Amino acid sequence: MQHIDDEDLALLALGEDVLDDAARAHLDSCPACSASVRELAVVADVARSAERDRDLVAPAPRVWDAVRGELGLGLAAPAETDAESEAEADAVAPADAGTAPLPAEREPTPDLPHTGASVVPLASRRPRAWLPVAAAACLALFLGVAGGVWWERRETEPPETTLATADLEALPAWTGASGQARVEEAPDGTRQVVVSVDAPAPEGTYREVWLLAEDVSGLVSLGVLEGSEGRFDVPDGLDLAAFPVVDVSEEHFDGDPAHSGDSVVRGPLDA
Ligand SMILES: [Zn+2]
Repeated sequence: MQHIDDEDLALLALGEDVLDDAARAHLDSCPACSASVRELAVVADVARSAERDRDLVAPAPRVWDAVRGELGLGLAAPAETDAESEAEADAVAPADAGTAPLPAEREPTPDLPHTGASVVPLASRRPRAWLPVAAAACLALFLGVAGGVWWERRETEPPETTLATADLEALPAWTGASGQARVEEAPDGTRQVVVSVDAPAPEGTYREVWLLAEDVSGLVSLGVLEGSEGRFDVPDGLDLAAFPVVDVSEEHFDGDPAHSGDSVVRGPLDA
């Protein structure tokens, strides 16, 4: 199966059990995925320890005075500045009629008089509200970095080796058609034939790609060519030397899986 996706890895690192049996088996056997979970778990731990240490020291009154001064509010900090106080942290702030409302989490009470002080709830000044945000930001940053690393590795992965190429030439009934084919081998040894064909496909027909024996005594179907280019797995163990000719046929929806006999382009691999 493929690697576990990033979201599931992140949830795993946060302690969520999101895997089915197949994914769990993959995780047990995949160094890349288990390393990702471990790394993400470190980030999650950092976030959690920040959460645990949230009983932060309350800011001195002059901090709030400075904040108020900055906002042009000109009101002394409320008396309640005890760090342990769980009292509602809403603050009373004067707001002249017509001035922009302070940032507020709640809608201001709509029927306030327009003269005198309006009561505008400030966002809670308790620090805990920030921690999940900080943790999320941390995680997002990590995922961003990990994604970048993954992308770079992906870019620098050794490319496929081209084992052979073929110029595909039109058969007499398809004058003007042309094509190219190449056999690629991935680092893990799997082979693919990449075929492109430049020829109009009449309505109600489709194209099929084949490997033929040189004397056309045998053939192997690689699959249906959708559009003008396709990539086809070469069956493991297939000896390309025994089937060295790439052929693209015109096929009809007649239920007959055999080669129609109507080849569009064909060419020998130059291996
Ligand atoms: Zn994996």
